[in-house]
Amino acid sequence: MGVRRRNYDIMIVGGGMCGGALALEMQALGLKVALIEMQPPHTGPSQPERVIALSYGSRCHFDALGVWQDIKALGVAPIKQISVNEADNRGCVQLHHQQANIDALGYVVENAHVLKSLYKHLEGKVDMYCPASVRSMSLEDDAAHIIVRDSKREKRLKGSLVVAADGTNSQIRNMAGIGAFGWDHNRFGIVASVTPEKSHDHTAFECFRSSGPLALLPLDEKRFSIVWTLKPEEASRTLSMPDVMFLRRLSRAIGADLRGRLGDMVETGPRACFPFELRQARRRTAKRLALIGNAAHTLHPVAGQGLNLGMRDVRTLADAVGAAVRGRRDVGAMIVLEAYEGGRMADNASVIGFTEGLNALFNNELAPVRFARGWGLEGLQQLPSAKDWLLRHAAGLSQMRA
Ligand SMILES: Cc1cc2nc3c(=O)[nH]c(=O)nc-3n(C[C@H](O)[C@H](O)[C@H](O)COP(=O)(O)OP(=O)(O)OC[C@H]3O[C@@H](n4cnc5c(N)ncnc54)[C@H](O)[C@@H]3O)c2cc1C
Repeated sequence: MGVRRRNYDIMIVGGGMCGGALALEMQALGLKVALIEMQPPHTGPSQPERVIALSYGSRCHFDALGVWQDIKALGVAPIKQISVNEADNRGCVQLHHQQANIDALGYVVENAHVLKSLYKHLEGKVDMYCPASVRSMSLEDDAAHIIVRDSKREKRLKGSLVVAADGTNSQIRNMAGIGAFGWDHNRFGIVASVTPEKSHDHTAFECFRSSGPLALLPLDEKRFSIVWTLKPEEASRTLSMPDVMFLRRLSRAIGADLRGRLGDMVETGPRACFPFELRQARRRTAKRLALIGNAAHTLHPVAGQGLNLGMRDVRTLADAVGAAVRGRRDVGAMIVLEAYEGGRMADNASVIGFTEGLNALFNNELAPVRFARGWGLEGLQQLPSAKDWLLRHAAGLSQMRA
């Protein structure tokens, strides 16, 4: 008996936050959507909690998709202020939500909560292949074909457009022969949930150190979720050291000023470690194919922009496909893909430039550069127009739909 073929408008490979959000956008346009995810559904809590700082712009996007209330019900922590400093150097920039006339500059959310809310809204609206993997793909002039395999059998799927949302090591990007460039930062991030002695007052701290940034994101009323950038050998030592020693090292690492404000770190949960790299796809489209999220770009998390950038990929692709639907045109046509590719260039380049520039600036240990940085942070704090620019970028307001 032959294998039955199923027809779709859009076939999305990768059911992470970007793939899930795109699936919701596409079904809302009245399109028939297949979502193929390799891992069995895992929307339960992770240890340590994996969290994302969502910009105000991304929060509005989730709101428009109808999932923000569900994410909020599962627990979000608003970021009322952002404080940027360099450990044991002068200068500090403070951004406050009231300066931007919004409730919060961003929100710290658990990845698992976002996924759970997205999947709840996708149920019954898209065809889920999960857990399933892609065995082959061919991108033809008139349609795309993929063969997926789940635990039981292979299925042939045909559609107008394939979307690769399958993360940094995208299998679909490789199958399409699209190269990626970038570099390894030779740094790892230690992630953990920690409690300081004093209240964080819903402030997110970005503390630059010689090995890289240490981010402290308010996770709930008391705790922070930290991403602590370390050199590889330091990271492996820090990962395995006893809790007491870890807390002592962390309390020292935040520097005297922050310790004065927050006190010592007194409690920690489990730790995990992630490598940091920059990876950028050479193109983000091919015949009947579009790349979104980490499949298109993986950033250093210094500025917390990876998912926020990915969510803007989702929005631009949905806009381009939406225009084709309204014009009763082929949703996988080259003109749609060109609109998407063109629409993402400037934002992508500016976020990568900002992230890498910030990293390079604070990685320089030359005394004059360190001195200038201290003055620079102090000057920025006094300069309303520069602060306003930073505020709008941090909150994701500059890139919001008019
Ligand atoms: C420590 C750390 C902190 C971060 N903090 C922030 C932050 O504060 N703010 C922010 O905006 N970003 C942050 N990021 C970046 C953010 O996590 C990513 O940009 C985001 O998760 C990318 O989402 P995605 O859906 O594109 O990819 P992923 O989350 O990688 O999802 C890809 C999905 O595809 C599936 N998949 C993979 N291969 C296949 C296949 N062959 N077939 C089918 N399915 C497949 C995977 O199982 C997964 O579900 C951080 C990253 C790290 C490492």
